[in-house]
Amino acid sequence: MEPESSVPSQRPSRKNYSLATELVFIDNSDGTGVRDLYNASSIPIYQTATFKQSSVSRMEDFDYTRSGNPTRSHLENHLAKIMSASRAYVVSSGMSALDVVARLVKTGEEIIAGDDLYGGTNRLLAFLNKNFDIKTHHVDTTKPDALLPYLHPTRTRLILLESPTNPLIKISDIPKIASIVHERCPNALIVVDNTMMSPYLQRPLEFGADIVIHSGTKYLSGHHDLMAGVIGVKNEVVAEKIYFTINATGCGLTPFESWLLLRGIKTLAVRMEKQQANAIRIAEFLEYHGFKVMYPGLRSHPQYDIHNTMSRGPGAVMSFLTNDVEISERVVESTKLWSISVSFGCVNSLISMPCRMSHASIPAAVRKERGFPEDLIRLCVGIEDANDLIEDLYSALVNANAINVIKQNGYTH
Ligand SMILES: *Cc1c(COP(=O)(O)O)cnc(C)c1O
Repeated sequence: MEPESSVPSQRPSRKNYSLATELVFIDNSDGTGVRDLYNASSIPIYQTATFKQSSVSRMEDFDYTRSGNPTRSHLENHLAKIMSASRAYVVSSGMSALDVVARLVKTGEEIIAGDDLYGGTNRLLAFLNKNFDIKTHHVDTTKPDALLPYLHPTRTRLILLESPTNPLIKISDIPKIASIVHERCPNALIVVDNTMMSPYLQRPLEFGADIVIHSGTKYLSGHHDLMAGVIGVKNEVVAEKIYFTINATGCGLTPFESWLLLRGIKTLAVRMEKQQANAIRIAEFLEYHGFKVMYPGLRSHPQYDIHNTMSRGPGAVMSFLTNDVEISERVVESTKLWSISVSFGCVNSLISMPCRMSHASIPAAVRKERGFPEDLIRLCVGIEDANDLIEDLYSALVNANAINVIKQNGYTH
């Protein structure tokens, strides 16, 4: 028999430390940890599909790994604490997390989402529309009022936000959107895909969101050596529905991957601090040379102030424009230290042209309609020495003649 409910996280009150401390502090005595026979400092990998029961009728904490596993539960309790969630769940990928949350929506109900969403999320929403008659309205969520025409008191079920968006680095005022929506649509849940910020920099459940999602593949793990998805939930009733779907569809994270993700999370603060410090220097360097840079750490960002009310930093992903697709291609291909790669959140630095890579699945006409410049270069800054990164980028920009062209022509965007 499988339990219909997840193992509850019992979290009696104790002193809360700052997040950098909480990331490494796993206190088994307060109920956030899972009981381990030998008090292991690193929670073991319970590599088992089944657990023995002491009798036919007695249910233990765990019986079958699809439904629950100590390594996974331990990680989930730790994540709930870090995300300020009442419950957290880990699944096989970020897309799986979005799929599980999307299953809260029934045929005929509607989703409102941003217009600069992760490519995989766009694909999932298109699939739901085609096969299940679940409509998504894409709006520019940088303007909270843009949601108003689409809000319906009963039909609206999910509001799906990213802030900053990727790769246009647009900011949504999450508290404002949450209050507008909660007032008009009691049935609607605010879902924030917070992958780009990580819980270290931004915790949307603390300012109005109902559900937070992370691709654990990115900053939480930090090394591009695993895939995982994280769901943090505020409300217990919603949490039980999420758990039901995970158990029913069998997408819970494996014990080994859970262990590896837990290991990555411990260094999130130091990685993020270093990546962000590097990113700030690189953004300033690019802006100094005349490039149009999209990064919420620059005062030139139109939503600099709003971002700072929600987050404790600008993160380590930015985009910039060269004004010329061929020049952008040459810049990307001339770097030596920056790997040409999709994704972000890894300890090493990555460079990409989203319109040719991560966002190529969005039709060119739609990219144009959403104001997506084809020459856009995205940088995902790692933990290397900042001078090395800047030197390598500078050589690539010189090699591609990008600096001269920008100096002469300025912007036409
Ligand atoms: C990567 C990513 C996802 C998908 O996560 P996977 O782990 O690759 O499935 C979802 N949302 C955002 C914002 C992402 O960056």
